[in-house]
Amino acid sequence: MAGQATESIRQEAETLRKQLQAWGIAYYTEDNPVVEDFTYDKAYQRLVEIETNYPDLITPDSPTQQVGDEVISDFSKVTHEIPMLSMGDVFSEAELAEFENRITNNVGGKVDYNCELKIDGLAISLRYENGILVQGSTRGNGSIGEDITKNLKTIPSIPTKLKRPLNLDVRGECYMPKESFAKLNETREANGEAVFANPRNAAAGSLRQLDPKVTASRKLSTFMYNVASFDPLESRTQAEMLEELHDLGFTINPTYRVANNVADIDAYVDEFQRKRSDLAYGIDGIVIKVNSLQLQRSLGATVKVPRWAIAYKFPPEEAETVVRNIEWTV
Ligand code: NAD
Repeated sequence: MAGQATESIRQEAETLRKQLQAWGIAYYTEDNPVVEDFTYDKAYQRLVEIETNYPDLITPDSPTQQVGDEVISDFSKVTHEIPMLSMGDVFSEAELAEFENRITNNVGGKVDYNCELKIDGLAISLRYENGILVQGSTRGNGSIGEDITKNLKTIPSIPTKLKRPLNLDVRGECYMPKESFAKLNETREANGEAVFANPRNAAAGSLRQLDPKVTASRKLSTFMYNVASFDPLESRTQAEMLEELHDLGFTINPTYRVANNVADIDAYVDEFQRKRSDLAYGIDGIVIKVNSLQLQRSLGATVKVPRWAIAYKFPPEEAETVVRNIEWTV
């Protein structure tokens, strides 16, 4: 603990909060980021550092206390009874080992992890009643999202009827494959329209179209990886759940792997960091999840992130984006 915050630290926290909020609106609400994720992450980490040293500087509207951003759009609102959360980040294998250590201490012993690719898209939630798709929504601010059912129904990988008549809220990622992204931007450029900064923003912009025909033309796809509540499922682990979701009719990412220790996790991270550019879709890291669903439930979550998972973020890919570079001045 660093004692009382000086006026300059207080000012810095305020500036960072305002800057991150403005960048967040451009990214989440306008689907048009004005800085690289790396720049956002650096400023965010600095704010976390200040707030950790001076907890009285934490404000309820700090980006560290909120998921995404407020929903301002023409779509009707959907309340997520079980919130859709964000994810804690780490940027090095040493920090990853700290996460593993924290879990081991919390649980009182070693546990298995499921490693998954962190798909660079946007989170969606699909509600099924008696196995029929009745609603699809965005994450929004985690508690309130947008009803984009008509648009999601145009995506071929989303089943409108499950193999079993379950009541289930399934969560996952909607993304634009790299090839569709390149073609879309080519066409937009030829038509004199603004190009999308990256596949994530192109997917977000495509899902939030008022005309579902436009969404249908954008060639989106999905990988589902979670449920709001495990109760309707038979699975006992994250890996089993992915297979159960697949059996129900969802598309899951097949590259997941159970790891028994940090060395296995590091090997998975290294492998997919190498293979990243060969994948047909963008990834911005690896997600490491405690494999036991019962342990996931007992570890729970903070206001913003689950305690049982962490994202290992990759450094930005060279020549990946055409984002306007704005100086970070704080
Ligand atoms: P996040 O993207 O860092 O991580 C959480 C999300 O990961 C989940 O909501 C889910 O959608 C996704 N995900 C992908 N694959 C997954 C998998 N296999 N399992 C579980 N989840 C998976 O968190 P966030 O809150 O959506 O956004 C924060 C990040 O967004 C920042 O770290 C920053 O990089 C970026 N951002 C950038 C700007 C900018 O201006 N460039 C602004 C705001 C946020």
